[in-house]
Amino acid sequence: MNSIRLLSDGTLLSDSGGAFGLVPRSKWSKVMAADEKGRLPQVLWTPLIFVDGIHILVDCGCGDKYDSLFEFESHRTTQLEQLAQLGLTPEDIGMVVLTHLHGDHSGWCTRKNGPAQSNEIQTSALVPTYPNAKYFVQRTEYEDAVATNERTRNTYFADNFVPLSQAGVLTLLDGPCHLTQNVQVVLTPGHTAGHQSLIVAGQAFGQDEPPVLILGELATYMIQFERLPWVTAYDVLPMRTIESKRAWQGWAQMHGATLICSHEPITPVGSFRNSGEYSKIIAVQRDYIVV
Ligand SMILES: [Zn+2]
Repeated sequence: MNSIRLLSDGTLLSDSGGAFGLVPRSKWSKVMAADEKGRLPQVLWTPLIFVDGIHILVDCGCGDKYDSLFEFESHRTTQLEQLAQLGLTPEDIGMVVLTHLHGDHSGWCTRKNGPAQSNEIQTSALVPTYPNAKYFVQRTEYEDAVATNERTRNTYFADNFVPLSQAGVLTLLDGPCHLTQNVQVVLTPGHTAGHQSLIVAGQAFGQDEPPVLILGELATYMIQFERLPWVTAYDVLPMRTIESKRAWQGWAQMHGATLICSHEPITPVGSFRNSGEYSKIIAVQRDYIVV
């Protein structure tokens, strides 16, 4: 049966200044609770789409190559472990679509070609984690990721994506396109210039079902998709983010789209509901979306 499963690669604890940037704490703290160190939970959702007879993974979490750089909530279950819990192996993945190449979205693209826990010197060769998958990212995103500047240097790790290119499994996309009959990518620039989101056609799940918009980091948290000016500190083009959100808010409301948000801990699956003049995103349940 066609489905979208919200796998994750664990939950990061991240400084609230990163996610909320210019938004005053007095405002965001009404909707999100930080811990005593001022950190917010940031789930690394990596939706696994099964439609058109193919398993499509969206984003790859943090992986296991840069563990010391990230702070996880205890009891992390990785993307690979969650796949295994579904009875799937890395060989079962046919496509990996990357919304962008930041270190918390591209980690499991590659892994070391050797035993994970070995005292011997490991080979430095990195191989695609999903050996049968074609990987897709926008060309603009890849070009920015391999030519970083002072601002972006600490957000992109070449080991996550350059080996894909070397292995000949990475397709660089030049704009929106269909990847399968029911899955397409669309441009949503702002967080990065080459950021993309995904649309899964509602017809994949049944007659009259609304489309599913997988936001990626068009919004880190669902409240940021609802409120146009709430942009993260990481967004390199904040005004583009606002324009992207304005356009896709309109689209989502017109189609009654189901929304999936990249790092949202409480309402990862939602939809706009009108109440008077103000449109709010509320949690929704779809039997074909498994959280
Ligand atoms: Zn990002």
